[in-house]
Amino acid sequence: MSLGFLEKARSVGGPDAIRTHDLRLVKATSFQLDHGPIDGVILIFIRYASAYKINSIFMGFDIMKKEKDYDLIVVGAGPAGMTAGMYSVRSGLETLVVEKGIGGGLSNEAPVIENYPGFKGIGGMELAEKMKAQAAEYVAIKELEEVKKIELSEKEMELVVFTEKDSYVTNAVVLSTGTKHRRLGAKGEAEFLGRGISYCATCDGFFFKGKPVIVVGGGDSAVKEALYLKNIGCEVTLIHRRKKLRAERYLQKNLEEAGVHILWNSVVKEIKGDKAVRSVVSYDKESEIEDEFPVEGVFISIGEEPVNKLAAQMGIEMDKNGYIIADKSQRTNLERVYAAGDITGGVRQVVVACAEGAIAATSAYNDLLELSTK
Ligand SMILES: Cc1cc2nc3c(=O)[nH]c(=O)nc-3n(C[C@H](O)[C@H](O)[C@H](O)COP(=O)(O)OP(=O)(O)OC[C@H]3O[C@@H](n4cnc5c(N)ncnc54)[C@H](O)[C@@H]3O)c2cc1C
Repeated sequence: MSLGFLEKARSVGGPDAIRTHDLRLVKATSFQLDHGPIDGVILIFIRYASAYKINSIFMGFDIMKKEKDYDLIVVGAGPAGMTAGMYSVRSGLETLVVEKGIGGGLSNEAPVIENYPGFKGIGGMELAEKMKAQAAEYVAIKELEEVKKIELSEKEMELVVFTEKDSYVTNAVVLSTGTKHRRLGAKGEAEFLGRGISYCATCDGFFFKGKPVIVVGGGDSAVKEALYLKNIGCEVTLIHRRKKLRAERYLQKNLEEAGVHILWNSVVKEIKGDKAVRSVVSYDKESEIEDEFPVEGVFISIGEEPVNKLAAQMGIEMDKNGYIIADKSQRTNLERVYAAGDITGGVRQVVVACAEGAIAATSAYNDLLELSTK
């Protein structure tokens, strides 16, 4: 096993014309070339070996560039991933964080965060920016690069992380892919997405100042979204399918004080419009009455679901809701694969995500250190 932070294995390869994602690391012992044996190098398997005439191209060029050989790769740069990256580098692991968006994750969408220690009240985006600036002091964060697949090498203890742009070899992986917004499933939802339908009041609320909007949902996030929209001057109606809100008491009180109109026991049946949203059809489950009323914005906040495609591909154990099962050290059922943050379910909050990221990176360090001394 090659551990970057203890001993960098030397690699050889072919001409620059061969792109690195055509290559797969398979073994790290020795290799017999036409020119004689080479010992102690990483062997590179070229996927289309015959096409490239493997013997003639192994001339000693450096194909596996050093930056593509990591001890730990963190997938996702939300609070969990950024913290994992920072802890990992500080413990001495060569680390890369790969993020499909711009980093910060879901916390970017929180209008205000009042329960992250050290900040009495801070905008989610501002907190995310502060975290990113701090993490970037230590770890490289590749943004706008989605991880598409992670393969476990059967022969060696490496994992290969394939993104839409490249591939990276690593000894360990932290999955901190978080969650995504749950869809309402109402008629018109897909059609008007981005044309009046939004899942983030902080991101899009500005465009609806002074206009009638609805917020769908009854939890903390929905109430916060409703309050935010009300504060910036929207005419807000909250639609909730039950008789009682799930949101924390103090949020419910704030909602009442702000005078947000609530449609109880009601669901959105259809969102209608032309070029943009114009109205919503609601259905009162108790009275069984349908009503259509004009709105220009529909903010959907009915919860999240785990982003678990990579975990499923890899055969990582998940609970019945699709959240990754990790132990107290954030280890999954796969060796050297850890999970942190909202993707593990439980209390889905920034403070927990950060803590789990720190634990995951520390576990990775401990495991790699133990393996390297075996
Ligand atoms: C409206 C709202 C209000 C909230 N308010 C609060 C609050 O007041 N206090 C609080 O503590 N929490 C709050 N939260 C919750 C908080 O935002 C989350 O708990 C936190 O962001 C979870 O962090 P995470 O790193 O686990 O996941 P996320 O923040 O979801 O980050 C996951 C990251 O992984 C990336 N990713 C996913 N798949 C891939 C892939 N294949 N390749 C590369 N990157 C990938 C995503 O782009 C994302 O950036 C709120 C959330 C919302 C929506």
